[in-house]
Amino acid sequence: MKILKAMLGATAAAAVSLLSYAASAQTYPERTITMVVPFAAGGPTDTVARLVAESMSKDLGQQIVVENVGGAGGTLGAGRVADADPDGYTILLHHIGMATSATLYRKLAYDTLNAFEYVGLVTDVPMTIVARKDFEPTDLKGLVEYVKANKDKVTVANAGIGAASHLCGMMFMSAIQTPLTTVPYKGTGPAMTDLLGGQVDIMCDQTTNTTKQIQGGTIKAYAVTSPARLDVLKDIPTAVEAGLPGFEVGIWHGIYTPKGTPADINERLSKSLQIALKDQNVAARFAELGTVPSSDADATPAALKTKLESEIARWKPVIEAAGEYAD
Ligand code: ASP
Repeated sequence: MKILKAMLGATAAAAVSLLSYAASAQTYPERTITMVVPFAAGGPTDTVARLVAESMSKDLGQQIVVENVGGAGGTLGAGRVADADPDGYTILLHHIGMATSATLYRKLAYDTLNAFEYVGLVTDVPMTIVARKDFEPTDLKGLVEYVKANKDKVTVANAGIGAASHLCGMMFMSAIQTPLTTVPYKGTGPAMTDLLGGQVDIMCDQTTNTTKQIQGGTIKAYAVTSPARLDVLKDIPTAVEAGLPGFEVGIWHGIYTPKGTPADINERLSKSLQIALKDQNVAARFAELGTVPSSDADATPAALKTKLESEIARWKPVIEAAGEYAD
């Protein structure tokens, strides 16, 4: 479609778009939808996406296939959707990184606020500060002392600049005023494999990836970044409680479509998202992983648009103060 539009020129292309999309919005969806996850398979975003996609597929009567496009902190996957045809058949499930990357990257391949349409908010996931099982410190205070004393040796895993793990790691280093060596992965799924294998020391990652490992004792947990302790991780203190004032962050997730996707397709997807978030299986799995589904009011295009705009404004000064950018 994009090539056809270029050949026809803007006016004729607009007419083609209107005709084809007016028809498609009535009958949508008529074929498989691709949901791009901008991180590796097996990680926290992938977990959220697959649960929601499976349930939305039932409501839509068409398969939603998850495609993992990891790398560059989520910006490669977001770019893939920004460039896709705006027909409702390529959608993006991304998190807070959609907002932070707008400031973190000096040159993004897309203009965050002008390259997408909005479907709705999905969930807000707390983070956990975790380490390999045999890492010496036993609590957050001990961790801070240890990393300050051994800063040249300690390695921090993340999923690249723009990932939630990058943001949380940046907050941690700035809270303790100690820069550490970071090791970027295509997602915290593969980073978790290395943490379990002892190849990397610490990570700040979402409960959707860490809860089972913490409960199983295969990794060590020092703190959760939520305002209160979590039911599923009752023994883990909040970061604030354990001595890091103001250290609170929630990783909100949203679903986007390429700019120009018709409003009624976004509305249809939003309705389907709302149904999926009330699916008992999704709700139960979210609860086990320490997260709660968004309300109907939040799982809407307007709520996600407002959230993205306010979060870009919220994190801009924090990122500028940290002075860490990517090209
Ligand atoms: N959510 C990413 C993933 O799924 C990791 C991150 O944002 O830190 O791998």
